[in-house]
Amino acid sequence: MVRGVVPRQPAKTGRQERARIERSAKKPAGLRPVPPGQKPGPTRAKGSKQAATKLTPTRASKGYNPVAPERIAEILKRLDQLYPDVTCALTHKSAWELLVATILSAQSTDANVNRVTPELFRKYPTVADFAALTPEQLEPDVRSTGFFRNKSKSVIGAAKKIVSDFGGQVPDEMDKLLTLPGVARKTANVVLGTWFHKAEGIVVDTHVTRVARRLELTKNTDAPKIEQDLMRVIPREKWILFAHQLIWHGRKLCVARRPKCVDCALENICHAGDKTWTTVEIHKNAKL
Ligand code: SF4
Repeated sequence: MVRGVVPRQPAKTGRQERARIERSAKKPAGLRPVPPGQKPGPTRAKGSKQAATKLTPTRASKGYNPVAPERIAEILKRLDQLYPDVTCALTHKSAWELLVATILSAQSTDANVNRVTPELFRKYPTVADFAALTPEQLEPDVRSTGFFRNKSKSVIGAAKKIVSDFGGQVPDEMDKLLTLPGVARKTANVVLGTWFHKAEGIVVDTHVTRVARRLELTKNTDAPKIEQDLMRVIPREKWILFAHQLIWHGRKLCVARRPKCVDCALENICHAGDKTWTTVEIHKNAKL
């Protein structure tokens, strides 16, 4: 041995060993498509180098931005192809009928509301007819939609205010709609967008919340903040259609439990943490 050269000894502090463990922990995991029924995740398929190299690790890629204009444009393009002309599924023939149906649809399904409203509007054809009722008189007619006491109060309260303050006409302005009992931004946006074709905001219901979070268009969980996030990244001329598209997508494929990712046209640009099938990296926080 050359004089003065001493073989390196492990540091008594164990520093090298820690560094080795940290280095190996940083090694990127491979990716694989995960079939339905198996837990999705960024793990390499056993013995399948090919599967691992086919996939795109996007988050690890430098500068991944889920609301980048190109990604938003791609999402909108695919939604347009999937749902070119969808609209509100609540049956209605006037702004008033749509307002009532939207109030009744809270915590209920559109199909359930559509079973109730034809008879309701046959029995009470005008806003003035509703304004003349007490909430107790309306309750039996809307009972099957759930939360019927509150809903009856809201509908009758809205009818009275429309008659007293707005000459019997449903107002077509956000500020005025928000003065009606039982009407918050979601209901106001449904009426403004679907009936008056006015894009004052974006409808945020349970479906929009779920799909927007899975697609990483928002990290928020409460409707007003989600709406603001979406209004910032979605072009205004798409606000009305976009909300309907997310609602339809949330009903058909991006359902709450076990979304049908294998059939979804957005799959390879969706990194949702609760996907049931994936060809791309999973982002744990992007989920319902
Ligand atoms: S891939 Fe799955 S989670 Fe993502 S949007 Fe489609 S159905 Fe929803």
